[in-house]
Amino acid sequence: MSKKWVYFFDEVAKAEEYVGGDWEKVRGLLGGKGANLAEMERIGVPVPPGYTVTTEACNAYLDAGETYPEGLNEQMLESLKTVETKTGKKFGDPQNPLLVSCRSGAKFSMPGMMDTVLNIGLNDETIKGMIALTGDERFVYDLYRRLIQMFGSVVMLAPGEDFEEVLTEARAKAGVETDTELNAEDWKAVAEEFKAIFKRHTGRDFPTDPYEQLNLATAAVFKSWFGKRAVDYRNAAGIAHDLGTAVNIQTMVFGNLGNDSATGVALTRNGTTGEHRIEGDYLMNAQGEDVVAGIRLTEDINKLKEEMPAAYGEFEQICQKLEKHYREMQDVEFTIEKNKLWMLQTRDGKRTAQAAVRIAVEMVEEGMITREEAVMRVTPAQIDFFLHPQFDREAVKAAKAKGDMLGSGLNVSPGAAFGVVALDADLAEKWAKEEGRDVIMVRPETRPDDVHGMLAAQGILTSRGGRTSHAALVARQFGKPAVVGMSALEIDLDKRQISVGGLVIKEGEWISIDGTEGELYTGKLPTEVPEFEDPELMKLLSWADEFRKLGVWANADYPADAQRALKYGAEGIGLCRTEHMFFEAERMPFVQKMIMTDNADERKEALDALLPFQREDFAGLFRVMDGLPVIIRLIDPPLNEFLPSESDLLRELCDLKLQLKDAGAPEEIDKLQKQIEDKELILKRVESLHETNPMLGMRGVRLAIHIPELTTMQVRAIFEAACTVAKEGVDVHPEIMIPLTSHVNELKVQQEVLEAEAKKVMEEQGIEPHYKFGTMIEIPRAAITCDQIAEYAQFISFGTNDLTQTTFGISRDDAEASFLIEYLEREILPENPFAVIDRDGVGFLMEMAVKKGRAVRPDMECGICGEHGGDPESIQLCHELDLTYVSCSPFRVPVARLAAAHAALRDKIKD
Ligand code: ADP
Ligand code: MG
Ligand code: MG
Repeated sequence: MSKKWVYFFDEVAKAEEYVGGDWEKVRGLLGGKGANLAEMERIGVPVPPGYTVTTEACNAYLDAGETYPEGLNEQMLESLKTVETKTGKKFGDPQNPLLVSCRSGAKFSMPGMMDTVLNIGLNDETIKGMIALTGDERFVYDLYRRLIQMFGSVVMLAPGEDFEEVLTEARAKAGVETDTELNAEDWKAVAEEFKAIFKRHTGRDFPTDPYEQLNLATAAVFKSWFGKRAVDYRNAAGIAHDLGTAVNIQTMVFGNLGNDSATGVALTRNGTTGEHRIEGDYLMNAQGEDVVAGIRLTEDINKLKEEMPAAYGEFEQICQKLEKHYREMQDVEFTIEKNKLWMLQTRDGKRTAQAAVRIAVEMVEEGMITREEAVMRVTPAQIDFFLHPQFDREAVKAAKAKGDMLGSGLNVSPGAAFGVVALDADLAEKWAKEEGRDVIMVRPETRPDDVHGMLAAQGILTSRGGRTSHAALVARQFGKPAVVGMSALEIDLDKRQISVGGLVIKEGEWISIDGTEGELYTGKLPTEVPEFEDPELMKLLSWADEFRKLGVWANADYPADAQRALKYGAEGIGLCRTEHMFFEAERMPFVQKMIMTDNADERKEALDALLPFQREDFAGLFRVMDGLPVIIRLIDPPLNEFLPSESDLLRELCDLKLQLKDAGAPEEIDKLQKQIEDKELILKRVESLHETNPMLGMRGVRLAIHIPELTTMQVRAIFEAACTVAKEGVDVHPEIMIPLTSHVNELKVQQEVLEAEAKKVMEEQGIEPHYKFGTMIEIPRAAITCDQIAEYAQFISFGTNDLTQTTFGISRDDAEASFLIEYLEREILPENPFAVIDRDGVGFLMEMAVKKGRAVRPDMECGICGEHGGDPESIQLCHELDLTYVSCSPFRVPVARLAAAHAALRDKIKD
């Protein structure tokens, strides 16, 4: 007996048995669409009868060089017989013909990727039967021309525009605006012309044998698995190429049988806001594809409630039933044929980040899912979205007042974006990728072969299409701000320009779109990050906090950063970079003086002047972080970073000397000469501090050892601040961190300097706040000798930027602009090690350091304060290494909270 290639919609149990009960595997076998059609049938939702040809059949067909595997044809014919019995109709029968659709459906939904052919089974004979049965000639000829059109373009790959052209002419000839106004005769003529197009492009007549139609369509679906656009989409979405697609053959039901018929699509909850209310579009008297294609203006689903209350009531119940069954928000397609409701598809609905969070939280409150599930359902990227830019409110007001707001469309994917107009996907990609420009891709509507441009663009704007249009779905999936269906927008692809109400914007000029509000602006509006106070988000993150084991701290240099970090949920400051405090204009002269001078008194004077500034900065941080640890890193970068550049100095000297040549008055000459002397001194000092490899030079602990007063001053500032603030009643926890340690003796030397000064200050102040002394681990040698280091360091913090740099021996700043890109493109490195921690190398060193360190000091606090601290994959590694905390930028704190919870919950799932 041959393999079972075909499953009837009521055979889902058999499919389960075959794959061993796992629903994911059922989806793999029957495709998402087929599996869910079968599942709906099983739970008693009305589904037009049909069957699914498995993905295994598709793979067998493709493997065998595009021939049906043994037994497939027989099984398909047999299943068709079953459909005939169930419906009382016969395939190809001139009196009572059965019509079917042929629908592709892979394991993962790929919007619009694969093609569907409706109305299979119509030919010059069967249309007569259909006309007799329905008494509606117009309806039948409309179906017929759709079949020829879809069959021609989808199966035989004739150009779609040729068909569209005929339609445009037909409307013009009949003097009407829309297809719905065309009558039976018009459609009859269109059908004939379509047949001619078909013949012209395929060199053969339109196939009249329904079985041939069905076979060709099925084979075309199989083949489309390796079509370019399907392959592109899979690459973008990270879907495997060997899954294959299933084919669903299903009895046609008709939403275009008059005004008691309709067709539509809906989400069981709002996909933008997450509100628990059905959201959707429908069309009266139309066939399914019309809604998705966006050629007719759709109605809001709420209107269906008034138009067909009974059918709508049933629809609402089914939506609820499906949600309960799948425990997820559903995206459904339905058709009402003469007041009878049929469900044609259901799948998990796509949603914005806001909606994802709200739905997850509300489903917990409705008792549908657990808190763990809710936390796992939201991705770190979705959390990040809450912190994405919105337009500055004042700027929006001003733009509106100025008339820069050009109009609005549908707000299908939130967030604000600006960019130059690019009118096709290739250009959008080119400008964004090759020239690094911000681009908004503008199209009448988008199609699957536009995806590469959409991914490269900052945002997407279309003039046609609805909430469930291709543009909307893709934008939401990839988190791109999008405004679609802006009907006032005219797009002239020949003149390469767009216009709204007479105002013309040329390709390459700036526009701004607000995907949250659905608005279009001319020019470039400034963006800002929104307030972080969404109540559902707060709830979800608080659940995440219950599950995670890792602490989440933040890198913050100023009290304002610390405040934001606290608000976003940080439990400490993992890194305060003291040097940032030196860069401010009023402090710079003292910093430079300190560096320039060789005289110890002068240096002390400069440092004394800097001390109060630092003390105030630290005091501010301690006050904000009342009760929480604050890690302060002593000065890290090479000194020349604080000095003017050599080339600038040379140019300025040159200028001064030229001025001197032209100068006449003696006082002027004197002044210039003095200036030149000063500059030459600075230049000499800068030259003497010049290093070939500053990153590997006189910086970090090396500098501190070289200029001990620098450490003394910083320690004094920290302890004076800590003591003062402690006396105010604040609970202070300073932790002092030495950067760039490679040998334990460096720590020893620093600790002596530090302890002495700290003791002095505490005696002066008469109070002894608790503090810790520790070091960064950012040189492989430090990681390798962490047992020795742990004798002195009470805590360690991985500086993974430098640790990656020193482990790989590559300079980040240079490499990311040169060979690293090639390495990534050629997959010599699987991932940018500066974005995601390199597990095998850097990760290995970290693991060793933690183990060795804790062997000596079991309670040692181990953290990470590099960029990686906010990267979900790296956070997973930090969890596995049992770090105490990750520290990241304040904006990444919420992402890290969720990612840390995911890591912990994954352990739970494994157990
Ligand atoms: P896609 O995957 O692109 O959504 P579908 O297979 O869902 O393609 O079909 C496209 C449209 O055709 C849908 O809107 C659906 O409602 C309609 N359709 C498919 N099969 C049938 C059928 N048997 N009867 C009526 N409409 C159908
Ligand atoms: Mg569909
Ligand atoms: Mg460093």
